[in-house]
Amino acid sequence: MLPIGVLNLQGDVAEHLNIFKQIGVPALPVKRTNEIAGISALILPGGESTTLWKLLRIFNLMDPLRERIKEGLPVYGTCAGMILLANHVLDGIDGQESIGGLGITVRRNAFGRQVDSFEMDLKVGSIERFPAVFIRAPWIENVESTVEVLASVWREEREYPVAVKQGKLLATSFHPEVTADARIHQYFVEAVVGA
Ligand code: GLN
Repeated sequence: MLPIGVLNLQGDVAEHLNIFKQIGVPALPVKRTNEIAGISALILPGGESTTLWKLLRIFNLMDPLRERIKEGLPVYGTCAGMILLANHVLDGIDGQESIGGLGITVRRNAFGRQVDSFEMDLKVGSIERFPAVFIRAPWIENVESTVEVLASVWREEREYPVAVKQGKLLATSFHPEVTADARIHQYFVEAVVGA
């Protein structure tokens, strides 16, 4: 299998690489179009989506990534990475673009009005009690019918999805890469990339 690439522009790059090392899956940092040609899947890390968007433009990666996603490249986006995968972004800065591909509408910094960061145990698909770390996290306000919801949280008397899957695309509002729990990365490798 070709290695998994971790987008190396800003954010939790080393953390994702560490988790793949822990589970023995080859992974490497990528930021150039020729590097993206040599990967079997891509991680869009947590970080800052506005900065990532600007760097994606500077490195001319927006259109090549949109192409690869259309062709079926498996991608997992955490937090800012989920914002980059979303087809629609609420509370973005002026002109903010996403790569898109995933049929969701996300709201940036949605949990920030109440608490900036928190951790909770969540059931994510068939994974029980995952230690989900939310850091100025987005939530999902709308999902298209193609999207499977794996986990949600209650806020303001309604449920907001925070983990979703659509074909080869996986996204979570929270950051498994900052925990020692590799189960979601393992799920990505086995059920999303491997399927
Ligand atoms: N609030 C950040 C953004 O909009 C995401 C935060 C994160 O990735 N922890 O990009």
